[in-house]
Amino acid sequence: MIRDPQTLDALVDAVERFVRERLVPAEAAVAETDEIPDELVREMKALGLFGLTVPEAYGGLGVTMEEEVMVMLAMGQTSPCFRSLFGTTVGIGSQGILLDGTEAQKKKYLPRLATGELIASFALTEPGAGSDAASLRTTAIRDGDHYVVNGTKRFITNAPHAGIFTLMARTDPANKGAGGVSAFIVEAGTPGLSIGKRDKKMGQRGAHTADVIFENCRVPASQLIGGKEGQGFKTAMKVLEKGRIHIAAICVGVAERMLRDALDYAVEREQFGQRIAEFQLVQAMLADSKAEIYAARSMVIDAARKRDEGLDVSTEASCCKLFASEMCGRVADRAVQIFGGAGYIADYGIERFYRDVRLFRLYEGTSQIQQIVIARNMVREATQ
Ligand SMILES: Cc1cc2nc3c(=O)[nH]c(=O)nc-3n(C[C@H](O)[C@H](O)[C@H](O)COP(=O)(O)OP(=O)(O)OC[C@H]3O[C@@H](n4cnc5c(N)ncnc54)[C@H](O)[C@@H]3O)c2cc1C
Repeated sequence: MIRDPQTLDALVDAVERFVRERLVPAEAAVAETDEIPDELVREMKALGLFGLTVPEAYGGLGVTMEEEVMVMLAMGQTSPCFRSLFGTTVGIGSQGILLDGTEAQKKKYLPRLATGELIASFALTEPGAGSDAASLRTTAIRDGDHYVVNGTKRFITNAPHAGIFTLMARTDPANKGAGGVSAFIVEAGTPGLSIGKRDKKMGQRGAHTADVIFENCRVPASQLIGGKEGQGFKTAMKVLEKGRIHIAAICVGVAERMLRDALDYAVEREQFGQRIAEFQLVQAMLADSKAEIYAARSMVIDAARKRDEGLDVSTEASCCKLFASEMCGRVADRAVQIFGGAGYIADYGIERFYRDVRLFRLYEGTSQIQQIVIARNMVREATQ
């Protein structure tokens, strides 16, 4: 749903300009230094990107899913590390509060998230619990008006920068399944919470992940999201379902960028006395990429519209994440191929995208987990 096309156009135009004039020129330096300059972060805040999904009543832009997709398609036209900083906050980091938080929790945190004063992380994965997230072992045991948290969370995006963590922990150790899990808002700086050293990653330099370690960390009971125990896994799944459409939109944006770069190269580069873009074998790579991007773009917009209508989009969200992330990987591979040897050399930039986009098939549910979700929903519908 697009509420006001003119307002959305103005926002998307502003993001496109920011991407073109500020982020694209900074890509190589950010990859080199592994840091996004503070000045660019300030500009992201000024554009309202940190408050994209926060309702207007709490100081954000309150975009619909379709509007969010349009902004992410524009944001995808540059290194995905830039999106990671605010996208993790407006996406998985803060959605738990937005979807299931109490009014007091929303009032306390959403306005500060909207301005970018607070960065939010989503802490679900553990060393022993990745795809099987419901088996998580971090415990949060009630002790008076606090919960005492113990455990380790792994690969947590933005952990070194986060002001708050949406933490999933087991409040009922007797219940080993999803029903024993609750969600909390834990503030950085709470005694007993520490951050591990930054992970060295394959790509997306500038975006940082680390372990988050809880050792007898006392979290006030008022930080239990929604005030109810046992709801945390459901909250996490709702958050991830929305996140899958968001990530799929980014995949489409980045694939468009890589294809544009490959096409620019193909019409410039000459071999055998002609532009390589004239060779039909190169054209096949361009055409397959174009068609797959178009398909993914259409899927993402369709799923976003359905979610805005209030429909159950569990299947559609997983279809989008599966298809768009795999498509993005294929486009990256073809783009490197079209660049030839230059595709392997850092100066040309395309090998950086090739490494950056590999992550899309892994996090927020691997491709195999998306297949499982899709097939499980199909079988359930066929047998009920
Ligand atoms: C850069 C980065 C950022 C991340 N950010 C966050 C974050 O902010 N918050 C957070 O909570 N987590 C985060 N993660 C964790 C991420 O979501 C997990 O890595 C991912 O869900 C996979 O879990 P795993 O790594 O334990 O792999 P595993 O679950 O061990 O999977 C290994 C392989 O087995 C396959 N597999 C597993 N189960 C099945 C099955 N039932 N059927 C078929 N195949 C299966 C998987 O598809 C995969 O191919 C991040 C990870 C990375 C790398």
